[in-house]
Amino acid sequence: MRPIGRAGSGGYRRFSWTAADRECRAWFVEEARSRGLAVERDRNGNLFAWWDVEKNADASVGGLLASAASLAADAMAGDVHGEPVTGRRDAVLTGSHLDSVPDGGAYDGPLGVVSALAAIDLLRERGAKPRRPLGVAVFAEEEGARFGVACLGSRLATGAIDPARARDLRDADGVTWGEAMAAEGYDPEAIGPDTQLLSLACFIELHVEQGRALTAPVGLASAIWPHGRWRFDFTGAGDHAGTTRLADRRDPMLPFARTVLAAREAAMRHDAVATMGKVRVTPNGVNAIPSSVAAWLDARAPSEEAVRATVADVRAAAEDAAGRDRVEVSLSEESYTEVVDFHAELRDRLAKALGDPPVLPTGAGHDAGILSAHVPAAMLFVRNPTGVSHAPAEHAEPADCLAGVEALADVLDELACR
Ligand SMILES: [Zn+2]
Repeated sequence: MRPIGRAGSGGYRRFSWTAADRECRAWFVEEARSRGLAVERDRNGNLFAWWDVEKNADASVGGLLASAASLAADAMAGDVHGEPVTGRRDAVLTGSHLDSVPDGGAYDGPLGVVSALAAIDLLRERGAKPRRPLGVAVFAEEEGARFGVACLGSRLATGAIDPARARDLRDADGVTWGEAMAAEGYDPEAIGPDTQLLSLACFIELHVEQGRALTAPVGLASAIWPHGRWRFDFTGAGDHAGTTRLADRRDPMLPFARTVLAAREAAMRHDAVATMGKVRVTPNGVNAIPSSVAAWLDARAPSEEAVRATVADVRAAAEDAAGRDRVEVSLSEESYTEVVDFHAELRDRLAKALGDPPVLPTGAGHDAGILSAHVPAAMLFVRNPTGVSHAPAEHAEPADCLAGVEALADVLDELACR
């Protein structure tokens, strides 16, 4: 395990378009090239490494005609969005992401990328050859840790977010997504949907399980709970902590505190989960009454009704508390992802190939969920013995990781090599 982006906490800080991210990308490109895979970057910051169908397998007249037809189709498709003509249609794609949450674990994301490369090694050892292009993807800004919107790379590539909105997303220092990607040599004006990604045969993401629901080494995903992020802005009046009488204060920290408690209570009422894990206090001084507090709510549940009811309750509590403390409050939805029910036919096929492993839903969002709105998608989970994730203690046993690689190779063999 390489310590790229490792922080003093023992966790990782691999944020998009930072030095750690650059190092991760360079590592991926090097690993892919050393395997003879064709490395490609799209316009949205996502990386791909392709194991293409070997050309001489296609050296018949029929094969040549088919290649010519597919080149012509590519030329036309290439015109649509002005993207490079690559000729990979109906491909099988696997992979995950390399970015992390603040002080995240080593496995969330990288396990899927590393396992994908290892599965290709295993397929080659077995003498398997792809009959359709087989790719490994690294999706950008999956965690949304720097720019606020999770799965930003896959959302852009599938058209799930307006490019103009994405370009203007800002990090904590006010740097926009457009500025950050431009500094790494990308053209922010060119971001948007990618025809190659939308024409995939399927996408398979392997991921460390993020709870304790999986008791076997490897499982399959049934669904992703609907989930979203909401931002609360409490605006009061900054003042002196020693000289301002309690009765004169408009302290935004008070309604914020009540809102945190309300989030827990609402989640319990609606069988949901709700978390306020990020807060920004201005000016953040010990001896100053804050002038404003920005806080983020993450809410998830098995159904959309439960998520919406939870957020509505938290909002009502925030407005009520703010009113009592003479503080202004506003709420904005930063992202919302509907329930994902993974492709049943694909899942059944994978279950058969893997000898019926456990099938389970998850409360965590993934690029596979974003892609599933457009192409058949499935997920493999690798057991997490403690259930800890998004924290330094996140762990998976080496034997389970190897079982994950074997399972992924079996699945890719079934989908791309037969
Ligand atoms: Zn992840």
